[in-house]
Parts: sequence; structure tokens; C-alpha cells
Amino acid sequence: MTNQNASQPPEHLSPEEFRRHGYALIDWIADYWQRVEELPVMSQIQPGAIRELLPPSAPEHGEPFERLIEDLDAIVMPGVSHWQSPSWFAYFPANSSPPSVLAELVSAGLGVQGMLWSTSPAATEIESHVLDWLIDLLDLPESWRTTEQGGGVLQMSASDSTHTALVVARHQAANLGIRPESMVAYASTQTHSSIQKGATVAGYGHVRLIDVDDQQAMRIDALEAALDEDRAGGLTPIFVAATIGTTGTTGVDPLRAIGEVCRKEKLWLHVDAAYAGTAMLCPEFRHHQDGLELADSYTFNPHKWMMVNFDCSVFYVADRAPLIECLSILPPYLKNEASESGAVIDYRDWHVPLGRRFRALKLWWVIRSYGAEGLRSMVRYHVELADQLAARLEADSRFELVAPHPFALVCFRCTESDEATNRLADAVNESGKVYWTASELDGRPMIRVSVGQSRTEQRHLDALWSLIDELA
Ligand SMILES: *Cc1c(COP(=O)(O)O)cnc(C)c1O
Repeated sequence: MTNQNASQPPEHLSPEEFRRHGYALIDWIADYWQRVEELPVMSQIQPGAIRELLPPSAPEHGEPFERLIEDLDAIVMPGVSHWQSPSWFAYFPANSSPPSVLAELVSAGLGVQGMLWSTSPAATEIESHVLDWLIDLLDLPESWRTTEQGGGVLQMSASDSTHTALVVARHQAANLGIRPESMVAYASTQTHSSIQKGATVAGYGHVRLIDVDDQQAMRIDALEAALDEDRAGGLTPIFVAATIGTTGTTGVDPLRAIGEVCRKEKLWLHVDAAYAGTAMLCPEFRHHQDGLELADSYTFNPHKWMMVNFDCSVFYVADRAPLIECLSILPPYLKNEASESGAVIDYRDWHVPLGRRFRALKLWWVIRSYGAEGLRSMVRYHVELADQLAARLEADSRFELVAPHPFALVCFRCTESDEATNRLADAVNESGKVYWTASELDGRPMIRVSVGQSRTEQRHLDALWSLIDELA
């Protein structure tokens, strides 16, 4: 039987109701940011606890919006881990900020699909322009501008950026008659797992992880030896990923030396600066990216340390022609005059998805709201706090640093024993007052302290130090 009421326009919240609930939710977020410091950093619930609070099936009839907001506190919050807590020292930061959230809201309200220039010219042009700004702000190679040969595009994640680079390099090689099964991608043993995943998804036959030196940087002799060995074994080296700021310890690969090998051997060089890219706002860190002009592609995540909330990953190519050649497929329904004139960028040709949201708005607003100066001073503040913690650890015979700390990540262990390191790692996390990451280096436990949450201040580092001192 057909329902007589099944066909009618949707019953929206009225504009007045939307305003009322919208204002209430902005208040809710502002209050959250004010009290987040007092909350236990990690969610304490058992698996399945949130689902138990949800009805078994979707509501047949619309509910009053007040109830939805109430359930934010009743259902959602117990299951939230507080990445926005100033005592968040785990992984890398995933920061949010007021201008970013407001831009996200506007982007959702506009609800535009920026797949083509013509489907919302502002989305494309602001994106291209702000990514050209970042060339200056981070001192990236001039040729990467969209007004030159290269260009930047926003992606969802560094994993997507890296995957895209791998796909373009594979496509170029396949055009030369090389079979994917024989293709090899190289990265260091400290490289982020996204390189291996991307190479697998892109169909590379092999991924080779190259040894690192005592600074956690890729050994260039080991890279050259692997290239020789693989060629001798009938394989074809295609792609090398170099990292500025590895996830484990923020190790920095010798970019220029790797780049020179790549030029000589005609290999694609991709640079992953997902976390540390933000540090390049400050000239004093730029020696770590020396040799960047040898790269074919580059990624960094404003959604980590640069106060743009997830998702916002930047991807640059030195030459956009092979990228577009590889990813452009034009069905008749997407044909339009602007695209055919060649005068515009259609970002659908720059990544795997077709549809894309107006992500550039939040990047633009964050840069405008804080200014380059504000962003630089945040980076320097976090690096200073991290240096200070490292100095405290170094001066105390109970602890030893396990790697250099070129940015704002400090890695250490207890000198007494591996058990002591494990005990300390757990005891600090179980306090609920802070959260950090227990990890491993060279098969031994270590503790990663990532300083970079945008609300973190001196007093939070002092509190962390007291906790370490007390529980070690
Ligand atoms: C975080 C990180 C990534 C992955 O970033 P996503 O945006 O989550 O895909 C890749 N590489 C490095 C070095 C990272 O630190």
C-alpha cells in the first residue's frame, strides 16, 4: 500500500529555528573549548558502549532538534577523545581553531561542489591562489606555482596525496612499456605507512624500505645499493619517497642527496612533510628542506599543526601536465566552455575523487585570521616548549633522548630498563590528565611527546614534567 503522505517537500527547520540552534551550537563549541582542559584526555568507555545508547533503528518521524543537541552531551561526549585538549601530546596534533570552524560552517552552508571551475569559480580560484601564497610562506620552489608549470591542490589526506603521486609515476612508467609487477617504490624504514599502502593500491610490484642512520635519516649508500641490486634482479626502480619529519621520531631524510640520485636514475621523487611542513613557515627550519627543487611532488598537512581542522592536505607537483594527463577523463556531461578554453583549472583532474568541497575557505581564513606572523610565532612557541622538555629529560639521569628533536616532538626512554619505560608510559596515560604515545624504536620501547596542540602553554608542559617526575 502506498503512503498518502510519502510525497511532499522536506520539512526544514525554519530560518528562525536554524538561527536559534546554530547560535546554541556555537555557544556549545565555545564552552567546550573552555572546559576541554578539565576533561580526561582519552575517552574511558568500553567497546560498544556508545552503540548501546543508540536505538536499534532509525527514527520514522523527525525529532525536535533540542533532543539532538542534548544527545551531544549524553551520547557523543563520553566517547570523544580530546584532541583539542592542551594536554594532548599523542601522535601529532590535529588542531582545530575558531576561523577554521567558522569557515567549515560556511562551506557546509554553501554546499558547493567544486569539481570544475565552472561549478563554483570561487572555490577553485581561492584554492589556487592560497596555495600559491603558501609557496612564499614556506619558501617552496617558484616553479610549483599554478601560474608556472606546477601547481597545488587540496586533498583529504597526505595518504591521498602520496597515493596520487605514486599513480602518476606509475602511469608515466607504464607509458614507456614498464610492467607494474616490476616497478619498485623506495622509502626508508621510518617512512609513514601511507607510502606502502599507496604503492600497494597503485599496483607497484615491490616496495623497498631502506635502512636509516643513527639520526633516523635514510642512508644514501643503502638506497644506491638497493637500486643497483633491483636493476640487476630485473626490476625497475620508479619512485622514491623522502620524508621531512618522520612520524616515529621526526627524522629528516637527506633530501638533496636523494634528489640527485633520483635525477641521475630518472626516478620520481616525492617528499612527505605531512607534519613538519608547517615548521617551514619559519626560515630557521628551512635548511631541512634543502634540495626541494629536485622533487616532483610534495605533501604537507595544514590539518596537523597549522590549525586548519581535518581535512586539509596540500599536494604540489613540479609539473602539472603528467598529473592531468594521467587523471583526466572527460565524459560528455562535464564538457563546458570554460574548461575547453583552457583558461581555468578543473581540480577534478588533480585527484581521484570527482566531487570536492570548498576546503580552501578554511585554509584561507586561518591564514588571514592569524597572519603569517601569528602562525610563525605558534610554531616557535611549540618548538621552544619541546626543547625545554628535552633539556629537562637530558639533565635527569633517569631518562635519555632516543633521537634528535628538530621540530616539536621529543622521544625518550627510561635509562633503568625497558620495563620502566613501559610502566611510565602507561602510568602517565592512566592518570587521564595527559595523553602521549608509547612507541618503539629499534625494537625497544620509547615514549613520544608531541608538543603542538594549539592551546598548549608553558603550564601544561610544567604539569607534564611534574607527572613524569612523580611517576618515573
Ligand atoms: C600523519 C602523517 C601522514 C599521514 O597523514 P594523513 O593525512 O592522515 O594521511 C603521512 N606522513 C607523515 C610523515 C605523517 O606524519
